[in-house]
Amino acid sequence: MSDPPSPSLDFIRAKVAEDLKTNKHQGRVVTRFPPEPNGYLHIGHAKSICLNFGIAAENEGGVCNLRFDDTNPIKEEAEYEESIKRDVRWLGFDWEDRLFYASDYFDQLYQYAVQLIQKGKAYVCSLSAQDIREYRGTLSEPGKDSPYRTRSVEENLKLFEGMRAGEFEDGSHVLRAKIDMASPNLNMRDPTLYRIRQVPHHRTGDKWLIYPMYDYAHSLSDSLEGITHSLCTLEFEDHRPLYDWVLDELNLDSHPQQIEFARLNISYTVLSKRKLLELVKEGHVSGWDDPRMPTLSGLRRRGYTPEVIRNFCEQIGVAKRDTVISVALLEHHLRDDLNRHSPRVMAVLRPLRVVIENYPEDQEEELEAVNNPEDPAAGSRKVPFSRVLYIEQEDFREDPPKKFYRLAPGREVRLRYAYFVKCVDVVKDEKTGEVVELRCTYDPATKGGSSPDGRKVKATIHWVSAAHSLQVEVRLYDRLFVKENPEEGGADFRDSLNPDSLVTLTSCRVEPSLKGAQPGSRYQFERQGYFCVDSVDSTPEAPVFNRTVTLRDSWAKIEKQNQQSKK
Ligand code: ATP
Ligand code: MG
Repeated sequence: MSDPPSPSLDFIRAKVAEDLKTNKHQGRVVTRFPPEPNGYLHIGHAKSICLNFGIAAENEGGVCNLRFDDTNPIKEEAEYEESIKRDVRWLGFDWEDRLFYASDYFDQLYQYAVQLIQKGKAYVCSLSAQDIREYRGTLSEPGKDSPYRTRSVEENLKLFEGMRAGEFEDGSHVLRAKIDMASPNLNMRDPTLYRIRQVPHHRTGDKWLIYPMYDYAHSLSDSLEGITHSLCTLEFEDHRPLYDWVLDELNLDSHPQQIEFARLNISYTVLSKRKLLELVKEGHVSGWDDPRMPTLSGLRRRGYTPEVIRNFCEQIGVAKRDTVISVALLEHHLRDDLNRHSPRVMAVLRPLRVVIENYPEDQEEELEAVNNPEDPAAGSRKVPFSRVLYIEQEDFREDPPKKFYRLAPGREVRLRYAYFVKCVDVVKDEKTGEVVELRCTYDPATKGGSSPDGRKVKATIHWVSAAHSLQVEVRLYDRLFVKENPEEGGADFRDSLNPDSLVTLTSCRVEPSLKGAQPGSRYQFERQGYFCVDSVDSTPEAPVFNRTVTLRDSWAKIEKQNQQSKK
């Protein structure tokens, strides 16, 4: 994956190139992807992964570390770490032997804190959390010094040691940087560096009862790993002075450059681990890997390939301003990939029985069907045809409206790869009046789908042979939210959950070539969309198909409209 960098470099790549030219970091490029293991990765993380691993790969000798930012013992779990590793690998990136944990640096971080205290740059503050907040002031008003700000170095050292030794309760003291309570930047008003949390950590056990705060641990972890460019999202721009302050006060040789970029937002979804966790916990979805989730495991189960996600991330690029990317663009990349690579098959989702009256009962035949018109090398397959078939209920109308060209009483249509058939009778349920069967005739001279007498039909529909087809479950997935921005105007995202985001059909019929289809395999169901075999709930006897995406590409339409409006 060492594609040459695109000719017009984005602002981050341009900065890296400039630093290489000026030898700012001794000609090195070291980046990192630093997830907090408190949830599964989502497509926003993919943007960061592609950026960090991508920049490392594009520069000779460049490397990218995977670092778990596991400084909060309360929310983190080993399950999340495993899922994160799996997802980064699946996306196609390799951290080789550079897997790190912020928690591995706890000893070192503690020593650094002691140094800051000794320098008079940090103090133990015993205000309550609420008082700390009140003393901090607001954007328009300066803060007030904590009464504990003037504690002596000795007292601070003793108290900090006591915090570490478990002598004090959670919340009774914190260690704060001594910077400037009047700073216009709130992050610089004596930010907390350490807090007491008397809870075990999943990696360090009960060794630590104090835990470092994000800004402090992050800058130092970056420095300890010799990171050259620390890429993060825009909300950390205001934290950069603190990032630099920590490294400068400790006089560290390795001083990474923090560079911020806009986070990825996508329409019709939420991208925040906290909110995704709520969806899982409250049962709105079946789990982190529910195919409606924007998590990488959800997208994978939905039928996305790593290439689709990488291409998408490459196309959106990096910017300095927050934008919302249309989910239609992501789906455009998805369709493009699936169109090229998915074999076509026939599947009937809502079956209607059709009897071909003039087709002999004991006869059957194999008809030739093209596997992928986009890919001649994909060849063809045989599809069995017989007297009793299924077609899609919606391909028949007893009373067809204008422009409905599919099957109707007395009308002839083409069965894909097969024959012209004509509907001669309609059988209804006596009680409900529902159409339960169509009686048709076929024209043997139209084998393969064209008529020797030049007769035309206006529609081609798909079908399966009743006796040969397999009954399967199909899950029709749609967007999880009905609103483009589920949180518009501060709304609760739960209020715009799409009640029809999953429709499960259990009596679908697919052609027999799908027998034994492997979990994860992808197909185009002709005229319906792209589907893949669910990797969780399928069994060899009973495969379950997930609808990845429908066939229609609304993005192509949007682009066309945009182009026209530009003209
Ligand atoms: P969330 O808000 O979903 O919990 P986070 O930023 O807290 O995300 P981290 O585990 O801290 O999650 O993120 C790891 C890396 O991924 C960070 O460098 C972060 O900036 C980046 N990242 C997270 N969300 C996005 C996003 N939507 N777009 C781009 N990068 C992101
Ligand atoms: Mg975070």
